[in-house]
Amino acid sequence: MAPLIDPFARPISYLRVSVTDRCDFRCTYCMAEHMQFLPKKDLLTLEELDRLCSTFVRLGVEKLRITGGEPLVRRDIMTFFKAMSRHLETGALRELTLTTNGSQLARFAADLAAVGVRRVNVSLDTLDAAKFQAITRWGRLPQVMEGIAAATAAGLRVKINAVALKGFNEDELFPLLDWCAGEGHDLTFIEVMPMGEMGEELRLDQYWPLKVLRARLAERFTLTDLAERTGGPARYVRVEETGQKIGFITPLTHNFCESCNRVRVTCTGELFMCLGQEDNADLRAPLRASGDDAALEDAIRAAIARKPKGHDFDYSRQKVAGQMTRHMSHTGG
Ligand code: SAM
Ligand code: SF4
Repeated sequence: MAPLIDPFARPISYLRVSVTDRCDFRCTYCMAEHMQFLPKKDLLTLEELDRLCSTFVRLGVEKLRITGGEPLVRRDIMTFFKAMSRHLETGALRELTLTTNGSQLARFAADLAAVGVRRVNVSLDTLDAAKFQAITRWGRLPQVMEGIAAATAAGLRVKINAVALKGFNEDELFPLLDWCAGEGHDLTFIEVMPMGEMGEELRLDQYWPLKVLRARLAERFTLTDLAERTGGPARYVRVEETGQKIGFITPLTHNFCESCNRVRVTCTGELFMCLGQEDNADLRAPLRASGDDAALEDAIRAAIARKPKGHDFDYSRQKVAGQMTRHMSHTGG
């Protein structure tokens, strides 16, 4: 079967799927406090998610990341992970992973490890319980810490993702680094993105460019750029003094679009070919129109044929250009 190759000769080998728009947190940069969630009938069922992901795997996707909303609050989500593990067993899928806020990891870490998940990304912006509560609105730090410990105990590698927020976690740069080094977790910083309808000013106020963060790190440590590329917006450095690997995700720069190997599907089955563009394809209609996957496959191929070259986010003029009205929880970060 012909693999998925986009018009810029980029093979599509990485799929990120949001399995729910719901979440048990309300992070200020991600959601409004009172969110209107989608009616259940609009969401893909677990069976539909299975057909969708399996079709992508047949078309050459080798890495599947489950996200949300909070993926572990979706009812019976382990049934879906278990189903996906069959693609790991055949070797078609090289990696099955998830991005989580960690709140439910204590419950699920062992089950995830048992179905073949090897690594999890846990989002954690601060180690201070009061600040954690302020930024997540509904989250409790000890619960997440327990989840992370459970993941480690289950043999999962943990990567911490921290959104870099000016005036919020600037002062925790080194404490976060030290904690991750002590626990053996990789650490990646994410630049805050202009998603959702939270006023421009607020987002610009929060914008802590990773260039600045990196310069701060370099004052204390020797940083060596690593050649490692993931096809995504992450760049890695090694901290020579600790041996730690630190990632920087700078979605606002264009330096990663050329090697983009990924697409995203929302929990309602919209396929977004680029995180920063509105164009999308409805995969739910072909999924529901027939039990055979031919129409679904055609819809996927037609969409990949329009994958754009890159996105238009731009903070450089001190005004958010290319701003998306979607929330991150909708597309799945
Ligand atoms: N609930 C899970 C979690 O928090 O990890 C998965 C979904 S969440 C939308 C995925 C990632 O997106 C998280 O690491 C979160 O910090 C990040 N994120 C959400 N809104 C963002 C924004 N406006 N800018 C940058 N990253 C954002
Ligand atoms: Fe929930 Fe993750 Fe969004 Fe926070 S970033 S509100 S945990 S989906």
